[in-house]
Amino acid sequence: MHEYIGAVHIHSNYSDGTGAFPDIIRAASEVGLDFIMMTDHNTLRPKKDGWEGWQQNVMVLVGYEINDRADRNHYLAFGLDKTVGVRIPAQEYVRRVRERGGVGFIAHPDEERSSMPEHPPYPWTAWDSDAFDGIEIWNHMSEWMEGLTEENKFQRFIHPLRSITAPPPKTLARWDALNRTRRVVGIGGTDAHAHKADVMGFFDVEVFPYKVMFKSIHTHVLLDEPIRIMEDEHFEEDKRRLHDALRQGHCFVANSYYGNARGFAFYATTATETWQQGDFILFPGEGKLALHVELPQRARLRLLRNGACVTETETRELTHTVRETGAWRVEAWIDDRGWIYSNHIRIGHEDGSC
Ligand SMILES: [Zn+2]
Ligand SMILES: [Zn+2]
Repeated sequence: MHEYIGAVHIHSNYSDGTGAFPDIIRAASEVGLDFIMMTDHNTLRPKKDGWEGWQQNVMVLVGYEINDRADRNHYLAFGLDKTVGVRIPAQEYVRRVRERGGVGFIAHPDEERSSMPEHPPYPWTAWDSDAFDGIEIWNHMSEWMEGLTEENKFQRFIHPLRSITAPPPKTLARWDALNRTRRVVGIGGTDAHAHKADVMGFFDVEVFPYKVMFKSIHTHVLLDEPIRIMEDEHFEEDKRRLHDALRQGHCFVANSYYGNARGFAFYATTATETWQQGDFILFPGEGKLALHVELPQRARLRLLRNGACVTETETRELTHTVRETGAWRVEAWIDDRGWIYSNHIRIGHEDGSC
């Protein structure tokens, strides 16, 4: 597999971010990201202005973040040439994104932050919608803000990367439950804005500079064939393949601040076949299928089935013989910090449930 590492969910000065595209692209390039997925609020203007494409070895993909009339139900949509309409209910924009060939993810689904009145939480409420491709299981900005108190404020502003620990357990439980019925892909988002703030009344600091944020939560995408870097004539096709891989769950989420996650693998095998993250396997019978995990470095590895931990051990590799159906995934932890979150390998019945 060919692995590409990117930052997803980024705001520029086309909406409420402070950075211009050239600065954001430079930051991504300096950090060594393969792709960035831009998501300004309610606009695809950057795409019309020609920002999508190869820029300084970075694949720049322009999507956008949609919200409803009440500014709730934030949805990250990619692969569209035109916005799907304003002032429509969440169920409707979720449906339209899919109909128009896009790929969409629910942003910060369980956001609860309450520390700053001027930044209220924007949770997802339209759970009766079923046409979303996935959810943002980890959002840097949301977690950072949720844990903010008067006492830790200064530390948190100075060390935005050290202030985050793991995705919200509530979101992970929801994600595991959804995967019992169908594939719901998990992605990680930075939600970078590079806000400027007056910290403690002393100085104006850039909170979350893009370059700092780009070192933390990444979405790693796995492709069968390589992307043709800087080849403009293949950009559209390679972009489609990257979007397809996300839609299929051929990806995982990692916080690179605690360790380089490149090379992580989670796959299933029988005597003759191999499947990867995001795939569905018809249960072949007890003991005929094995799950394999390979970590780039030793870490605390947890194998989960339908949200419940089956095995937890300090290791670099694991093989587990499958005796029952379920939505299986793995987590790796370094020093009590969440590091890697795989997508599910779903092993189940004829009707696609598990
Ligand atoms: Zn949002
Ligand atoms: Zn956002």
